Amino acid sequence: MNDFNISETGYYGEFGGAYIPEILFPPVENLRKAYSEILNDPDFQREFHALLCDYAGRPSALSLAERLSEKYACKIYLKREDLNHTGSHKINNAIGQILLARRMGKTRIIAETGAGQHGVAAATVCARMNMECVIYMGKTDVERQQLNVRKMNMLGAKVVPVTAGNMTLKDATNEAIRDWCGNSSNTYYVIGSTVGPHPYPDMVARIQSVIGKEIKQQLAEKEGRDYPDYLVACVGGGSNAAGTIYEYLNDLKVKIILAEAGGKGIDSGKSAATIRLGRVGVIHGAKTLLIQTEDGQIQEPYSISAGLDYPGIGPMLANLAKTNRAEVLAINDDEALKAAFDLTRMEGIIPALESAHALGIFDKRPFKPDDIVVVCISGRGDKDMETYVTSLLRNA
Ligand SMILES: *Cc1c(COP(=O)(O)O)cnc(C)c1O
Repeated sequence: MNDFNISETGYYGEFGGAYIPEILFPPVENLRKAYSEILNDPDFQREFHALLCDYAGRPSALSLAERLSEKYACKIYLKREDLNHTGSHKINNAIGQILLARRMGKTRIIAETGAGQHGVAAATVCARMNMECVIYMGKTDVERQQLNVRKMNMLGAKVVPVTAGNMTLKDATNEAIRDWCGNSSNTYYVIGSTVGPHPYPDMVARIQSVIGKEIKQQLAEKEGRDYPDYLVACVGGGSNAAGTIYEYLNDLKVKIILAEAGGKGIDSGKSAATIRLGRVGVIHGAKTLLIQTEDGQIQEPYSISAGLDYPGIGPMLANLAKTNRAEVLAINDDEALKAAFDLTRMEGIIPALESAHALGIFDKRPFKPDDIVVVCISGRGDKDMETYVTSLLRNA
């Protein structure tokens, strides 16, 4: 049988590994040696879970979506990461990694951010733990995500606008890596998703697995069985998906559906459907599926949702797609918008645009009436209100 977890050498099938410049060998090797022991340490786990509960507001609710269930003729539950402090699943990862950084004796935290959700989560936890915090953000994103930039500043973080390349997430990540190369003795690099060199993808998946652990417990209480028939999540780098499915990876009766960002359509040239369009390549230290030109140049991805427009995808999810453990659907901008309005009007929940992609699958494939489908609502829609209002006006 396939084992969908990471191998000793840091690979999921053919994907993963650590493709890094020599100068990063020592800090990445340090992290590789430290992370498993620290994550498994009962003291760490106690501190981590205390913060998740008393600070981030976990466990997040598992809500039965009654009207959506009726509409799509199956039983739909929503895992409510939108209810967490700072509004998404990113806070779980920030708490976990920054606690780990403190245990490794680091005093300075750096992070990359796209839409700013990961930057705000990191800046929040740094304020709480009295750590210096520097956030790299593409200049384009700084300009279009002013509210999150103001939050990071108010939280005491330094936001560095990056002017290289397209001035978006990929360029911010390059700049964060450059900083880490020069400052790894006191600095810890908090990556915001299940991407980057080994051990980051495995570490982030294990930290986010609190999502699936709670689903197990909550389903057992509500349904008398601790597993659903389907788990559904959107995929940017893959962390909310990895956290949702981690506990069920090798339980084949639980089917996995991943929603990637189709953008304006996968054949339109304006898409972020990495699994459908990507070929094997290396990005930010990992071998994975990557949207690239014939001669291997990274192609700029596009999605209406800033959190999904990354040209790569975490190696764990690349492997799940490649081995058909996961079914992958590309959801286009307009389909995600429709799903966001349906959830809002039928269930009273305004989702993040990213999460709306996960909801977009229901118009694409049928389920059976007794199927239990758990959808991860990775975040709330506050940051996307401008996009929602614009689309309302357009359709008025
Ligand atoms: C960042 C983000 C995502 C995409 O990141 P993953 O690592 O794929 O989870 C999805 N939803 C929300 C709300 C986000 O902030």
